[in-house]
Amino acid sequence: SINQAAIRRLDLERHMHLALDNNEFSLHYQPVIDIKKNEITGAEALLRWHNDTLGDVYPDEFIPIAEQTGLIVPIGLWVLNEACCMGEQIRQQVNENFQIAVNASPRQFRSLTFLDDLASIFKATKFPAENLDIEVTEGLFLGSFGNTVALLESIKALGVNISMDDFGTGYSSLNYLRQYPFDILKIDRSFIMDLTHRIEDQALVRATIAMAHGLGLTVIAEGVEHADHLAFIKKNDCDFAQGYLFSKPVPAIEFKALLDKGLR
Ligand code: C2E
Ligand code: MG
Ligand code: MG
Repeated sequence: SINQAAIRRLDLERHMHLALDNNEFSLHYQPVIDIKKNEITGAEALLRWHNDTLGDVYPDEFIPIAEQTGLIVPIGLWVLNEACCMGEQIRQQVNENFQIAVNASPRQFRSLTFLDDLASIFKATKFPAENLDIEVTEGLFLGSFGNTVALLESIKALGVNISMDDFGTGYSSLNYLRQYPFDILKIDRSFIMDLTHRIEDQALVRATIAMAHGLGLTVIAEGVEHADHLAFIKKNDCDFAQGYLFSKPVPAIEFKALLDKGLR
Protein backbone atom coordinates (compact mmCIF):
# COMPACT_ATOMS: atom_id res chain seq x y z
CA SER A 1 0.00 0.00 0.00
CA ILE A 2 3.01 2.28 0.55
CA ASN A 3 3.93 1.53 -3.04
CA GLN A 4 0.43 2.38 -4.27
CA ALA A 5 0.37 5.65 -2.36
CA ALA A 6 3.74 6.58 -3.88
CA ILE A 7 2.52 5.77 -7.40
CA ARG A 8 -0.65 7.82 -6.89
CA ARG A 9 1.42 10.74 -5.61
CA LEU A 10 3.77 10.62 -8.59
CA ASP A 11 0.78 10.41 -10.93
CA LEU A 12 -0.81 13.50 -9.39
CA GLU A 13 2.47 15.37 -9.45
CA ARG A 14 3.11 14.53 -13.11
CA HIS A 15 -0.36 15.67 -14.21
CA MET A 16 -0.29 18.73 -11.95
CA HIS A 17 2.67 20.18 -13.85
CA LEU A 18 0.49 20.55 -16.95
CA ALA A 19 -2.81 21.26 -15.25
CA LEU A 20 -2.63 25.08 -15.38
CA ASP A 21 -1.69 25.12 -19.07
CA ASN A 22 -4.46 22.65 -19.83
CA ASN A 23 -7.11 24.70 -17.99
CA GLU A 24 -7.93 21.83 -15.65
CA PHE A 25 -8.54 24.00 -12.58
CA SER A 26 -11.75 25.78 -11.72
CA LEU A 27 -13.19 27.53 -8.70
CA HIS A 28 -16.33 26.71 -6.81
CA TYR A 29 -17.95 29.34 -4.63
CA GLN A 30 -19.65 28.81 -1.29
CA PRO A 31 -21.86 31.62 0.01
CA VAL A 32 -21.03 33.40 3.24
CA ILE A 33 -24.17 34.56 5.01
CA ASP A 34 -24.66 37.57 7.25
CA ILE A 35 -26.66 35.91 10.02
CA LYS A 36 -28.44 39.02 11.24
CA LYS A 37 -29.53 40.15 7.78
CA ASN A 38 -30.03 36.61 6.44
CA GLU A 39 -28.26 37.72 3.26
CA ILE A 40 -25.39 36.43 1.12
CA THR A 41 -22.64 39.01 1.53
CA GLY A 42 -19.70 37.09 0.11
CA ALA A 43 -18.24 33.77 -0.97
CA GLU A 44 -15.26 31.53 -0.31
CA ALA A 45 -13.48 30.41 -3.48
CA LEU A 46 -12.53 26.72 -3.35
CA LEU A 47 -10.23 25.11 -5.86
CA ARG A 48 -11.32 22.15 -7.99
CA TRP A 49 -9.20 20.00 -10.30
CA HIS A 50 -10.52 17.82 -13.08
CA ASN A 51 -8.08 15.79 -15.12
CA ASP A 52 -9.19 13.47 -17.94
CA THR A 53 -7.08 10.57 -16.65
CA LEU A 54 -7.39 11.11 -12.90
CA GLY A 55 -11.00 12.35 -12.86
CA ASP A 56 -11.96 14.80 -10.08
CA VAL A 57 -9.24 15.28 -7.51
CA TYR A 58 -10.08 17.06 -4.23
CA PRO A 59 -8.03 19.78 -2.54
CA ASP A 60 -7.34 17.76 0.61
CA GLU A 61 -5.40 15.35 -1.61
CA PHE A 62 -3.72 17.65 -4.14
CA ILE A 63 -2.99 20.84 -2.14
CA PRO A 64 -0.36 19.14 0.06
CA ILE A 65 1.41 17.90 -3.11
CA ALA A 66 1.16 21.33 -4.73
CA GLU A 67 2.72 22.73 -1.54
CA GLN A 68 5.59 20.26 -1.47
CA THR A 69 6.44 20.75 -5.15
CA GLY A 70 6.06 24.54 -5.03
CA LEU A 71 3.38 24.37 -7.75
CA ILE A 72 1.01 26.02 -5.27
CA VAL A 73 2.74 29.32 -6.07
CA PRO A 74 1.56 29.63 -9.71
CA ILE A 75 -1.67 27.77 -8.93
CA GLY A 76 -2.37 30.11 -5.99
CA LEU A 77 -1.88 33.16 -8.21
CA TRP A 78 -4.29 31.71 -10.74
CA VAL A 79 -6.82 31.23 -7.92
CA LEU A 80 -6.40 34.83 -6.71
CA ASN A 81 -6.74 36.24 -10.20
CA GLU A 82 -9.80 34.12 -11.05
CA ALA A 83 -11.50 34.88 -7.73
CA CYS A 84 -10.88 38.63 -8.07
CA CYS A 85 -12.29 38.61 -11.65
CA MET A 86 -15.43 36.87 -10.41
CA GLY A 87 -15.62 39.20 -7.41
CA GLU A 88 -15.44 42.25 -9.65
CA GLN A 89 -18.19 40.91 -11.93
CA ILE A 90 -20.44 40.46 -8.90
CA ARG A 91 -19.54 43.92 -7.62
CA GLN A 92 -20.50 45.44 -10.98
CA GLN A 93 -23.68 43.43 -11.45
CA VAL A 94 -25.08 42.70 -8.01
CA ASN A 95 -23.45 44.16 -4.92
CA GLU A 96 -20.50 46.53 -4.80
CA ASN A 97 -19.67 45.46 -1.24
CA PHE A 98 -19.30 41.79 -2.16
CA GLN A 99 -16.45 40.00 -0.31
CA ILE A 100 -14.41 37.14 -1.77
CA ALA A 101 -12.35 34.83 0.46
CA VAL A 102 -9.37 32.93 -0.92
CA ASN A 103 -7.27 30.31 0.86
CA ALA A 104 -3.52 30.80 0.81
CA SER A 105 -0.83 28.23 1.63
CA PRO A 106 2.30 28.94 3.70
CA ARG A 107 4.44 28.24 0.63
CA GLN A 108 2.86 31.20 -1.19
CA PHE A 109 3.97 33.56 1.57
CA ARG A 110 7.55 32.45 1.02
CA SER A 111 7.42 33.61 -2.61
CA LEU A 112 9.37 36.86 -2.71
CA THR A 113 7.02 38.38 -5.27
CA PHE A 114 3.76 37.58 -3.43
CA LEU A 115 3.07 41.17 -2.42
CA ASP A 116 3.81 42.58 -5.91
CA ASP A 117 1.78 39.80 -7.53
CA LEU A 118 -1.18 40.65 -5.32
CA ALA A 119 -0.93 44.34 -6.18
CA SER A 120 -0.79 43.49 -9.93
CA ILE A 121 -3.89 41.32 -9.61
CA PHE A 122 -5.86 44.15 -7.98
CA LYS A 123 -4.73 46.49 -10.74
CA ALA A 124 -5.56 44.09 -13.58
CA THR A 125 -8.94 42.94 -12.25
CA LYS A 126 -9.97 46.30 -10.71
CA PHE A 127 -11.18 44.33 -7.68
CA PRO A 128 -10.59 46.43 -4.53
CA ALA A 129 -8.16 44.94 -2.03
CA GLU A 130 -10.69 45.78 0.72
CA ASN A 131 -13.11 43.23 -0.75
CA LEU A 132 -10.63 40.36 -0.52
CA ASP A 133 -10.16 38.15 2.55
CA ILE A 134 -7.07 35.96 2.57
CA GLU A 135 -7.53 32.85 4.72
CA VAL A 136 -4.50 31.38 6.42
CA THR A 137 -4.11 28.45 8.79
CA GLU A 138 -1.75 27.91 11.68
CA GLY A 139 0.65 26.13 9.35
CA LEU A 140 1.82 29.60 8.36
CA PHE A 141 3.27 30.20 11.83
CA LEU A 142 4.85 26.80 12.42
CA GLY A 143 7.84 27.12 10.09
CA SER A 144 10.03 30.12 10.85
CA PHE A 145 10.27 31.61 7.37
CA GLY A 146 11.41 35.15 7.85
CA ASN A 147 9.08 37.69 9.25
CA THR A 148 5.50 36.50 8.88
CA VAL A 149 4.12 39.39 10.94
CA ALA A 150 5.76 41.95 8.64
CA LEU A 151 4.44 40.22 5.53
CA LEU A 152 0.90 40.01 6.94
CA GLU A 153 1.12 43.69 7.90
CA SER A 154 2.19 44.58 4.34
CA ILE A 155 -0.68 42.57 2.88
CA LYS A 156 -3.05 44.37 5.25
CA ALA A 157 -1.53 47.69 4.22
CA LEU A 158 -2.81 46.99 0.69
CA GLY A 159 -6.29 46.88 2.25
CA VAL A 160 -6.75 43.08 2.31
CA ASN A 161 -8.45 41.40 5.31
CA ILE A 162 -6.75 38.43 6.96
CA SER A 163 -8.75 35.45 8.26
CA MET A 164 -7.63 32.75 10.66
CA ASP A 165 -9.11 29.60 9.08
CA ASP A 166 -9.99 26.32 10.86
CA PHE A 167 -9.70 27.90 14.31
CA GLY A 168 -9.87 25.40 17.15
CA THR A 169 -7.93 22.62 15.40
CA GLY A 170 -4.19 22.16 15.71
CA TYR A 171 -2.47 24.21 18.38
CA SER A 172 -4.88 27.15 18.26
CA SER A 173 -2.40 29.15 20.21
CA LEU A 174 -3.99 32.30 21.61
CA ASN A 175 -0.59 33.83 21.10
CA TYR A 176 -1.22 33.82 17.32
CA LEU A 177 -4.37 35.87 17.81
CA ARG A 178 -2.48 38.36 19.91
CA GLN A 179 0.57 38.58 17.67
CA TYR A 180 -0.86 38.58 14.15
CA PRO A 181 -3.14 41.19 12.62
CA PHE A 182 -6.28 39.11 11.98
CA ASP A 183 -9.62 40.63 11.00
CA ILE A 184 -11.71 37.47 10.87
CA LEU A 185 -11.81 34.22 12.82
CA LYS A 186 -13.38 31.13 11.23
CA ILE A 187 -14.56 28.49 13.72
CA ASP A 188 -13.70 25.05 12.37
CA ARG A 189 -16.51 22.80 11.19
CA SER A 190 -15.56 20.09 13.74
CA PHE A 191 -16.88 22.33 16.56
CA ILE A 192 -20.14 23.06 14.76
CA MET A 193 -21.13 19.60 13.59
CA ASP A 194 -22.05 18.13 17.04
CA LEU A 195 -23.20 21.41 18.53
CA THR A 196 -26.71 20.16 19.13
CA HIS A 197 -25.63 17.19 21.28
CA ARG A 198 -22.36 18.18 22.90
CA ILE A 199 -22.44 20.76 25.66
CA GLU A 200 -18.62 20.88 25.53
CA ASP A 201 -18.78 22.15 21.95
CA GLN A 202 -21.52 24.62 22.91
CA ALA A 203 -19.27 26.04 25.63
CA LEU A 204 -16.26 26.24 23.30
CA VAL A 205 -18.16 27.92 20.47
CA ARG A 206 -19.78 30.41 22.83
CA ALA A 207 -16.40 31.25 24.39
CA THR A 208 -14.64 31.50 21.01
CA ILE A 209 -17.21 33.99 19.71
CA ALA A 210 -16.94 36.11 22.87
CA MET A 211 -13.13 36.00 22.78
CA ALA A 212 -12.95 36.94 19.09
CA HIS A 213 -15.36 39.83 19.57
CA GLY A 214 -13.33 40.98 22.56
CA LEU A 215 -10.30 41.13 20.25
CA GLY A 216 -12.27 43.08 17.64
CA LEU A 217 -12.52 40.16 15.17
CA THR A 218 -15.47 39.21 13.03
CA VAL A 219 -16.59 35.57 13.44
CA ILE A 220 -17.61 33.09 10.74
CA ALA A 221 -18.92 29.64 11.68
CA GLU A 222 -17.95 26.96 9.13
CA GLY A 223 -19.89 23.78 8.39
CA VAL A 224 -23.34 25.01 9.39
CA GLU A 225 -25.49 22.11 8.19
CA HIS A 226 -28.65 22.25 10.31
CA ALA A 227 -31.16 24.83 11.44
CA ASP A 228 -30.19 23.94 15.06
CA HIS A 229 -26.57 24.95 14.37
CA LEU A 230 -27.71 28.25 12.94
CA ALA A 231 -30.07 28.91 15.87
CA PHE A 232 -27.25 28.29 18.35
CA ILE A 233 -24.65 30.53 16.71
CA LYS A 234 -27.26 33.21 16.10
CA LYS A 235 -28.24 33.19 19.75
CA ASN A 236 -24.58 33.56 20.65
CA ASP A 237 -24.02 36.57 18.44
CA CYS A 238 -21.92 34.97 15.68
CA ASP A 239 -21.61 37.32 12.67
CA PHE A 240 -21.47 35.07 9.59
CA ALA A 241 -22.18 31.46 8.63
CA GLN A 242 -21.10 29.13 5.88
CA GLY A 243 -22.25 25.58 5.25
CA TYR A 244 -24.45 23.07 3.46
CA LEU A 245 -27.56 24.49 5.20
CA PHE A 246 -27.27 27.38 2.74
CA SER A 247 -25.34 25.82 -0.12
CA LYS A 248 -22.44 23.56 -1.03
CA PRO A 249 -19.62 25.19 -2.99
CA VAL A 250 -20.93 25.55 -6.58
CA PRO A 251 -19.52 26.64 -9.97
CA ALA A 252 -19.54 30.37 -10.78
CA ILE A 253 -22.62 30.20 -12.97
CA GLU A 254 -24.68 28.42 -10.30
CA PHE A 255 -23.40 30.81 -7.68
CA LYS A 256 -24.65 33.79 -9.70
CA ALA A 257 -28.06 32.12 -10.00
CA LEU A 258 -28.05 31.63 -6.23
CA LEU A 259 -27.33 35.33 -5.76
CA ASP A 260 -30.19 36.30 -8.10
CA LYS A 261 -32.58 34.00 -6.28
CA GLY A 262 -31.43 35.03 -2.79
CA LEU A 263 -32.02 33.02 0.38
CA ARG A 264 -35.54 31.87 1.04
P1 C2E B 1 -11.38 25.23 4.12
O1 C2E B 1 -10.73 26.48 3.65
O2 C2E B 1 -11.63 25.11 5.59
O3 C2E B 1 -12.74 25.12 3.29
C1 C2E B 1 -13.93 24.59 3.80
C2 C2E B 1 -14.13 23.15 3.36
O4 C2E B 1 -15.30 22.64 4.03
C3 C2E B 1 -14.40 23.00 1.86
O5 C2E B 1 -13.87 21.75 1.45
C4 C2E B 1 -15.94 22.98 1.82
O6 C2E B 1 -16.44 22.33 0.69
C5 C2E B 1 -16.26 22.21 3.07
N1 C2E B 1 -17.59 22.54 3.63
C6 C2E B 1 -18.22 23.73 3.60
N2 C2E B 1 -19.40 23.67 4.25
C7 C2E B 1 -19.53 22.41 4.70
C8 C2E B 1 -20.56 21.71 5.45
O7 C2E B 1 -21.59 22.27 5.82
N3 C2E B 1 -20.33 20.40 5.73
C9 C2E B 1 -19.20 19.75 5.33
N4 C2E B 1 -19.08 18.46 5.64
N5 C2E B 1 -18.21 20.37 4.63
C10 C2E B 1 -18.37 21.68 4.32
P2 C2E B 1 -12.97 21.60 0.14
O8 C2E B 1 -13.50 22.48 -0.95
O9 C2E B 1 -12.81 20.15 -0.13
O10 C2E B 1 -11.57 22.22 0.57
C11 C2E B 1 -10.80 21.60 1.57
C12 C2E B 1 -9.64 22.46 1.98
O11 C2E B 1 -8.70 22.60 0.90
C13 C2E B 1 -10.03 23.90 2.35
O12 C2E B 1 -10.52 23.94 3.66
C14 C2E B 1 -8.71 24.60 2.16
O13 C2E B 1 -7.90 24.47 3.29
C15 C2E B 1 -8.08 23.86 1.01
N6 C2E B 1 -8.25 24.63 -0.24
C16 C2E B 1 -9.32 24.72 -1.07
N7 C2E B 1 -9.09 25.57 -2.10
C17 C2E B 1 -7.84 26.06 -1.90
C18 C2E B 1 -7.00 27.00 -2.61
O14 C2E B 1 -7.38 27.61 -3.62
N8 C2E B 1 -5.74 27.22 -2.10
C19 C2E B 1 -5.29 26.60 -0.96
N9 C2E B 1 -4.07 26.87 -0.55
N10 C2E B 1 -6.05 25.73 -0.28
C20 C2E B 1 -7.31 25.46 -0.73
MG1 MG C 1 -10.95 28.37 3.98
MG1 MG D 1 -11.85 26.11 7.22
